[in-house]
Amino acid sequence: MLSLVDDENATPQGAESTGTILLRLQGVDTAIDQARHRKAHLEEQQSLQLATEHLASWTREHHDLDRTIDDATKVLNDCETRTDEIDATRQRLEQQLRTVIAPREAEALQHEIANLVTERGELDETALEAMERQSQAEDAMNELEARETSIRDAVAQAQRQLESVQAELDDAIAALEVDRRGFTLHLPEPLLAQYERIRSKNGVAAARLHGARCEGCHLDLSAAEVDEVRAADEHAIPECPQCGRLLVR
Ligand SMILES: [Zn+2]
Repeated sequence: MLSLVDDENATPQGAESTGTILLRLQGVDTAIDQARHRKAHLEEQQSLQLATEHLASWTREHHDLDRTIDDATKVLNDCETRTDEIDATRQRLEQQLRTVIAPREAEALQHEIANLVTERGELDETALEAMERQSQAEDAMNELEARETSIRDAVAQAQRQLESVQAELDDAIAALEVDRRGFTLHLPEPLLAQYERIRSKNGVAAARLHGARCEGCHLDLSAAEVDEVRAADEHAIPECPQCGRLLVR
């Protein structure tokens, strides 16, 4: 359980002064602000983002390797088809060559056969390169797939950790809001409205007067100002002449 607020910030006890309740309300509001700020800047959120990016880059790599393997396979298939054609044509031409008598015709057939042999040699080379690419990509794919479980687990774990700390903060905020409602019930409506108005501008709306110093703006009031604040009606909460916060004596 997160401890965001001191125990003294519990529901008001008996005859507490308006000023004390106001300061307690401020304490609870500050704790709520801090919890919300923490929730918006969780390092668990960063961890989840990193894990998610890691998975995304894994997926891209997987996709790229898949494509490399597919491309190489297609090249190999094309080579095979063309090689079969060449072999069949060559066989036919060689048979033809055996029955040809005219030297010019024989020469033309030999030339055609030589071209087929050259093309076949080039195809073999292309097929060899494709086989090499395919084999390297398959090795890389095996390594990549061996990492898949741990990468997906890391995302799931980061997600769980984030949700857990978010839920903890939500519980803490909910508890603080219950306290807050308790305090607001003990404050006069106009003072509460004044408090909310100052808070929306300043973040902190109520501060204690410590000696001559306002603990809201940390500035010293003049002797005359201190006298004026101290002389105010017992139930009135004056504003700091420097920062405008409600000054609790
Ligand atoms: Zn002040």
